Amino acid sequence: MDCYLKVYGCQMNAADAHLVSRLLQDAGIREVEVSAEADAVVLLTCSVRQHAEDRARGFARTMRGEGKKVIVAGCMGQLRGEELIKEGIADFALGPDEYRRIPDILLGSRELSEVEGLETYSDLLPVDTGGVSASQAIIRGCENYCTYCVVPYARGRERSIPYQAFERQVRHLVDTGVKEIFLLGQNVLAYKHDNLRFIDILERVAGIDGVERIGFLTSHPRDLDYETVQRMAAIPELLHFFHLPLQSASDRVLGMMNRGYTVSDYAERVNWVRRAFPDAYLTTDILVGFPGETREDFEITLDAMERFQFDFAYMFAYSERSGTEAARMENQVPVSERQKRLATLIEKQSEITRLRSQRWVGRSEELFVTAPAPRGEGMLTEMKNHRSVILNHTARPGERVRAKLVGVSGWSVLAEPAVKEVV
Ligand code: SF4
Repeated sequence: MDCYLKVYGCQMNAADAHLVSRLLQDAGIREVEVSAEADAVVLLTCSVRQHAEDRARGFARTMRGEGKKVIVAGCMGQLRGEELIKEGIADFALGPDEYRRIPDILLGSRELSEVEGLETYSDLLPVDTGGVSASQAIIRGCENYCTYCVVPYARGRERSIPYQAFERQVRHLVDTGVKEIFLLGQNVLAYKHDNLRFIDILERVAGIDGVERIGFLTSHPRDLDYETVQRMAAIPELLHFFHLPLQSASDRVLGMMNRGYTVSDYAERVNWVRRAFPDAYLTTDILVGFPGETREDFEITLDAMERFQFDFAYMFAYSERSGTEAARMENQVPVSERQKRLATLIEKQSEITRLRSQRWVGRSEELFVTAPAPRGEGMLTEMKNHRSVILNHTARPGERVRAKLVGVSGWSVLAEPAVKEVV
């Protein structure tokens, strides 16, 4: 049985793919790199936006048409499973807590493995991908119920991975050559287990032999407190990278989104971060065209982009997700208007990102080498703040190279080695 795994959506799905690969490997199922060679296809899907669902549906339909067994797993499997099977797009559909059943289905077992309602997969050791950077979930699920979001319905309540189990997973990753670990969760700051909070986990993971760099994704701005930022600043291994999704800078819209903070709360947190980490690489998510967002609300967000000077922003037009509160709200903004606002926002932020990138030029930095650069020109590297840099030099992944940042091309910062020695 040869299986092809196709991943859509967020970093959680990318990390889940390594757990699914482990399950396949343990069951003796071979994973292949191209779908044409596979007998079966497993899709790890995303339901956050309609576009992601449409892409997964299209791929599943094609695979089914080629006579392959199709399992739609993940968020879409949980939320739209019945519908997909009825439409003949999928043979099986499974939610994010049912991955253990994938090998059973592929091998045609009569009985499927028992699954817990709220899985942590904390006993599974991720597969060796050969990379020097890896992500591992420390918390699964979400119960924030932002009114536009399907994740709480698809991934269930929050549950934290017990530290001992997580440490075992991290040590395993280190044994496979990983030096940089990202702690993942829909909201890592909600971590709570055995009286440990997220900052305690960060400090412990930083102390594991062989962990040279640690980062985390994503954090809900509401849950970031001053003490946490101060303790973060005392962790030498921590990347100076913060992804703090703002979503909107209008307090009225933030209230309708149920985000639990005002724009001035958010600004206070940005100040804590920038004071503690002057070279912080700060990114955000912005959602425009939320139901009831007026032109004035949108202008407030646009002005805030200027004020906050994000290094990068993931920007989206609101997409109705059935079952969410926002989908039932009146005053839906016409799709054409959402797209217009999105285009204006992207234009504004692109210019900010371009100018922000220039501020690195001329600096000397120690770069962490992660992989050969795309198109084979030099190496892909990262600064201490996770900003990616293309280094015009040959080096092995995992090495650190002192380099001079010499320019910007498109989104990329370019560097030349400053000192020959490898540190
Ligand atoms: S915090 Fe809000 S936006 Fe993020 S996953 Fe949870 S419900 Fe969705």
